[in-house]
Amino acid sequence: MTRRKITLVVLIAAAAVAAGAITAAALINADVSVELPVLMYHHLDDTGDDVVTISGELFEEQMKYLGENGYTTVSFDELVDYVSGDLKELPEKPVAIVFDDGYESNYKIAFPILQKYSCKATICVIGSCIGKDTYKDTGVPMLPYLTWDEAKEMYDSGLVKIGSHTYDMHQYAPLESGTARESVQPLPGESEADFAEAIRADHNKLSALIKEKLGCEVSVFAYPNGKYSPLSEKLIRSLGVRATLTTRVGMNHIRRGDPESLYLLRRYSINETTDLETFQSYLDGKIPKN
Ligand SMILES: [Zn+2]
Repeated sequence: MTRRKITLVVLIAAAAVAAGAITAAALINADVSVELPVLMYHHLDDTGDDVVTISGELFEEQMKYLGENGYTTVSFDELVDYVSGDLKELPEKPVAIVFDDGYESNYKIAFPILQKYSCKATICVIGSCIGKDTYKDTGVPMLPYLTWDEAKEMYDSGLVKIGSHTYDMHQYAPLESGTARESVQPLPGESEADFAEAIRADHNKLSALIKEKLGCEVSVFAYPNGKYSPLSEKLIRSLGVRATLTTRVGMNHIRRGDPESLYLLRRYSINETTDLETFQSYLDGKIPKN
């Protein structure tokens, strides 16, 4: 390439970066991009009769389907190592499985199925709910959540990692006392500094608990109700979280050398209406119509 041509390429590249279209790292590693569908689950029961619930039977069909169709479930630790360059390759057709909230059904129903098909998953727990089956302020019954012993057993299996869905920023206002924080957003009238401190304190509380109970760091964070902002994202990243999960829908492109590509990941919500045809369309990155 002549010097003039090189200058032109550099200028075009710089313009693209300046325009925010792509990051510098992505530019260097544009050829090393891996498609990653992330599947989002919540609760499991016998019937899957709820928008965020799936039956054990269908969940098992889906896990079986992944193996039979060449997909490999991956953990966020592997993804972090891939973007940092510590892991040279991801398996063929990687897919990430995430459970939000941390219900006990993840242990009782999903875990035996994950073991049967050697599938990896991440459970993003709500720290304040662990081991509970009633709302802490009002005593009203709620779905039972995992205990620490159950989380530890799953973590020790090597198949399940534990992530954050906040310690207590995923409240349900009608059944809490005082001002409830239902997602990672400022309360009415809250200053930016107070909001930042609230996030830091909440995150540190859950991180310390996970460190104490399981001996691991929190590397992945799922936004309660999918609500995030540039500020919340900046704060969460500053606390050492390596991957953040939204409820936006679509395919993700993970790039080696580009840690940014693990933030604000899109996810497909899976429930009892997700038949295998729809399931495959999500694995292909199709956007559902509705
Ligand atoms: Zn949730």
